[in-house]
Amino acid sequence: MRTFCFFLLLFVAVLCVAQTAPSSSSSAEAPKEIPSFDLSAIDKTIDPCVDFYQFACGNWIKNNPIPADKSAWARYSVLAERNRYFLRDILEQTQAPGQHSAIEQKVGDYYAACMDETTIEKRGAEPIASSMSAIAAIKTKPELIQRIAAQRDGIGALFIFGQMPDMHDSRQTIANLDQGGLTLPDRDYYIKVEAKSVETRQKYLQHVQKMFELSGDKPDVAAAEARTVLAIETGLAEPSLDRTARRDPKTRDHMMQTAEAVALAPNFQLTGYFADSGAPKFTSLNVSNPDFFKEVNQKLSSASLDDWKTYLRWRALDTYAPILPKAFVDEDFQFNGAYISGQKEIEARWKRCVRSTDLNLGMALGQLYVDKTFGPEGKERTLKMVQAIEAAMHQDIGQLTWMSDTTKQKAYEKLNAIVNNIGYPDQWRDYSTVVVKRDDYAGNVTRARAFEVQRQRNKIGKPTDKRDWDMTPPTMNAYYRANMNDINFPAGILQPPFYGKTADDAVNYGAIGVVIGHELTHGFDDQGRKFDADGNFNNWWTPEDGKAFEGRASCIADEYSGFVAVKDDKGEVKLNGRLTLGENTADNGGLKLAYMALMNIIGNTPVKTIDGYTPQQRFFIAYGQVSCQNVTDQQARTWAIIDPHSPGRWRVNGAVQNSAGFAEAFGCKAGQPMVRESACRVW
Ligand SMILES: [Zn+2]
Repeated sequence: MRTFCFFLLLFVAVLCVAQTAPSSSSSAEAPKEIPSFDLSAIDKTIDPCVDFYQFACGNWIKNNPIPADKSAWARYSVLAERNRYFLRDILEQTQAPGQHSAIEQKVGDYYAACMDETTIEKRGAEPIASSMSAIAAIKTKPELIQRIAAQRDGIGALFIFGQMPDMHDSRQTIANLDQGGLTLPDRDYYIKVEAKSVETRQKYLQHVQKMFELSGDKPDVAAAEARTVLAIETGLAEPSLDRTARRDPKTRDHMMQTAEAVALAPNFQLTGYFADSGAPKFTSLNVSNPDFFKEVNQKLSSASLDDWKTYLRWRALDTYAPILPKAFVDEDFQFNGAYISGQKEIEARWKRCVRSTDLNLGMALGQLYVDKTFGPEGKERTLKMVQAIEAAMHQDIGQLTWMSDTTKQKAYEKLNAIVNNIGYPDQWRDYSTVVVKRDDYAGNVTRARAFEVQRQRNKIGKPTDKRDWDMTPPTMNAYYRANMNDINFPAGILQPPFYGKTADDAVNYGAIGVVIGHELTHGFDDQGRKFDADGNFNNWWTPEDGKAFEGRASCIADEYSGFVAVKDDKGEVKLNGRLTLGENTADNGGLKLAYMALMNIIGNTPVKTIDGYTPQQRFFIAYGQVSCQNVTDQQARTWAIIDPHSPGRWRVNGAVQNSAGFAEAFGCKAGQPMVRESACRVW
C-alpha cells in the first residue's frame, strides 16, 4: 500500500494523535484552541520577502519552546494535543462505573488496564514469559520460521508478510513479502560510517544490553547478545533497499508464483510459513525486494541457530517494552525518546494510554470521538472546499503549456475518478472478537494486535476494500492512496488551526485548503503520476510529457537539496531532495491550487483588509503559520533520514519562493530571497 500523509507517521506508530479536556485526575489543562491566523505569532521586524517563515512565525517560535515531553512542537501540535485531552475525557468517562455501550465498555476497560500500573508492576516480566520460553524451546531452523509465523502479537522479525492491492489490478488484494526485521529507524543507521552513526550504534549496543539484563541475563552475557543482535540486524540492513529508491513503485513490483518465491529463498521455508501464518491460501504474490530474500537466505544458514534465537528474543523484548513494568518502559524511553529524538521527559502515563487505545482500538474510540465532535455539517463544509479545489486543479491542468492534450485527457480522467473520504469511514470496524480484560494490559495489546494482523491477512485473495481507512478519525493528518486513488481527511484535522468555522475564506484556504490541494497533488507527484485513474501502476503519459514532467520535478529536487535540515556540533545535514520530492511537489501544488480556488471565490470583489492584511496576504500567512515549529537537533537529524516531508521552515519558504501569487501579494521583487530566480513549477 502506498499512502502519502500530510505529516509523518512516526515509526513508533503511537506518535500520531491529538488531545483535550480537563478531568479530576489531570494535573495539566488542555491547551486552548488556536486560530489559523495569529497576529501575535508574526515577527514584524522581518521582511516577508527576505524570510517569510521567520516573518509569519518568528514570535511564535520565540514564545513556544518544546515541552519537556515532546521532541518537536508546532502550532499544529496544539491541535493534536487538544484531541488527546478530548480522548482522555471520553476514556475516563467510559472507564468509570456506570451504564456503558459495548464499545464504551471495551475502550474504557482497555484504558483502565493501561492506567493500572500497580497490576502491571506486580506482574513484572510475566506477560512476555511465554514468548521467551517458546523461543528458548526452538531446536531447529525450520522451527525458528514456525515461531515467526506463530507470532501474531505484533513482533516484527526477519521480514514483513502482509497484503496490498495488486499493483496492476487494484481491485484485487494480494499477498506481499517485504524486507524488514530492523529495530533502528532506518537501514542507514546500521550502514553509515560517519561519527554520528557510529555513536548511535554504540548507544544501541548499550541499550540492547540493558534490556537483556532487565530480562534476567548477566551483564557479560547480555553484552554478547547485544553484539549478536547488531550483527544480525546489520545483515538485514545491507540488502534492504533505501527509502529513496523504494519511492519508485518499479523497485517494488515483482509479482511471482508462490512456488517461485519459495524457491527464491528456500531457507525461509515459505510453504510452511504461509500455512502457519493464518492467511487464506494463495498461488501468487508480490515480493517487494527479491534481493533481500536471496541474501538473507544465505545468512539464515551461515548464522547459528543460537544467534537467530537471540535476535528473536530481542525483537520480542523491544516490542513488549512499552507495555511492561516501568524499568522496561524507562529504558525504552532513554534510547528511543531521549537519545534518538531528544525528548527530555517521557509523556504522562495517560497520554501514552490514550495513544495506545487509539493505536489498538482506534476505530472504536474514534466512533465515540466522532459522535461528540463531528456532525454531518462538518462533512458538508469540507466537501465543498474539496470540490472547489478539484475545480481549480481541472482549470490548472487546462492551462499547462508543457502538457499535450492527449495526456491532459488522461489527467482529467484521473482527477475526476478521485474519491473523497471525509471525517470517518461509512462502516465502523467490529472489535467484538477482541477480548479486553481490566487486569491484563499486555494481553489486551497482544490480542488487539493479533486481531489486526488477522484482519489484514484475511484481505488476501479478496476484492480490495476501498472503504477501509488507514487512519483513525481523531488523527490529525490526511492522506492520499495511489492504489485507491482516494483522498482522506480524518475528523481530527478538520479543526483550528486547519479549519475554523468562523475564519474567513482566505485563512481556511491557506490552511486546510492547502492540505486538500496537497493530497490531490499526490495523485500527480513524481510517483503518484505513475498510477492511473483506477489506482493501477500504469503509464498514461506520452513520452514527451513524461520527460517534461521529470525536468520540472528535478527543479524541485535540486531546490530542496540545498536546504539545511540541521546544523549542530555533530555537523550539518542537508535535506534529501529526492526523498522529499513527492511531499515538496505536493506542498507546491497544494499552495497553488488552494490559491487558485480562493481567487475564484474572491473574483473581482473589492479587496477588504482584516488586521491590516489583504485576503491574499492572509492566505499565505495562514499557510506559513500552520507549520511554525521548534524541533530538537536529534529529532531534526532523524527526520532528515526518515521523513519524506521537509521541516516547517522549508515547507513554507521552499514553496512560497516558487509562487508568483506570493510575490504579488507581498510586493516582493526579483532578486529578493523569497523570489526564486528560476522558479520551479510542476503543477
Ligand atoms: Zn503528503
